[in-house]
Amino acid sequence: MDYSDPEFQAIHHVFPDTEKYLCYFHVEQAWLRWTKQKKNNLSDAERESLLSLLRKTALAPTRDIHQNAMEQLTTSDPYTNNQKVKTYLDNFWLNIPERWCRVHFHNGFHLNVTTNNGVEALNNSLKKFYIKLTSTGTLTSLIDILVTEFVPDLLKTYVQLNYQFCSQYKRYNEYVPEFLHNKPRNVVKHCLTRYANASSYKAGDIDFVTNGGVFLVKSESNVDEFYHVDIGSNLQLPSCSCADFIQSYLPCKHMFAIFRNTNYKWNDLSPLYLSSPYMNLDDRFLSEQQFDQDLDDHNAIIDFSEDLQLTAEDDHNEKYDTDLSKKRKIYVKTLKFWKP
Ligand SMILES: [Zn+2]
Repeated sequence: MDYSDPEFQAIHHVFPDTEKYLCYFHVEQAWLRWTKQKKNNLSDAERESLLSLLRKTALAPTRDIHQNAMEQLTTSDPYTNNQKVKTYLDNFWLNIPERWCRVHFHNGFHLNVTTNNGVEALNNSLKKFYIKLTSTGTLTSLIDILVTEFVPDLLKTYVQLNYQFCSQYKRYNEYVPEFLHNKPRNVVKHCLTRYANASSYKAGDIDFVTNGGVFLVKSESNVDEFYHVDIGSNLQLPSCSCADFIQSYLPCKHMFAIFRNTNYKWNDLSPLYLSSPYMNLDDRFLSEQQFDQDLDDHNAIIDFSEDLQLTAEDDHNEKYDTDLSKKRKIYVKTLKFWKP
């Protein structure tokens, strides 16, 4: 949501138990604007340092890193020497860390959603396109447009995107394993890349912590470091302590290292996780009968080789340090040997 008290109060009134997070895009925008204003007396260097500390505080993935960033922020020169900075931070930000600091957010797929720009874009298209074309400026015509045009058009796009990405519409490229069929595009892309990145792992890099699917997986960049991976259960969602998982909440390289080297496989991930709407296309809209438009590229293949890219993970594997097309070829080659 925006940084708006009326908006917060309204949402809180209707959904008192829901966590309410600020849109990170607008948080950044507010900081950039405030620190630029001449009356706040910040030099360019102070401004940069303050922004960097605020970002660190907001995005810190663990409590320790967050605590450390918070200490740096409140002992920094701009905070201790400039009363305006102190007042601004104390009254607008440090009093509500649960709304903008990631470490306070509950784990879950929603962590991927860091802005409300999508909702704003919808609002814009409603105002600038639909209302402009047909409205008579009355509440009745607004409701009429919403019910007869705006929402049906959105639903049509949603149905089309679901259908165009399912195996009934197009055949998947051979290297896309079956368990990734009928998944949203971002999930397939994400998983294929992590699978390829996990190819150098061996059984000896993985230790069983318990028989219930809890592991320690070696870091590739730091031999002394291990990531704690839990594939979850009927009651509990999976987790990995790496930054990639914390940021995306999608399966990471360390999970694929487990699937490649132990008896635990993709389907052993928590059913809560595997059945999440974030991980699946909407099966109400996957049959052709529900789709009345003529789609002509019916026989094409759903291919990902152009999309595969290196991930900004905990480490960078030197052997992939070649040009992009070569990297893609390596990925595709690795993926062809996929044994789910
Ligand atoms: Zn991980």
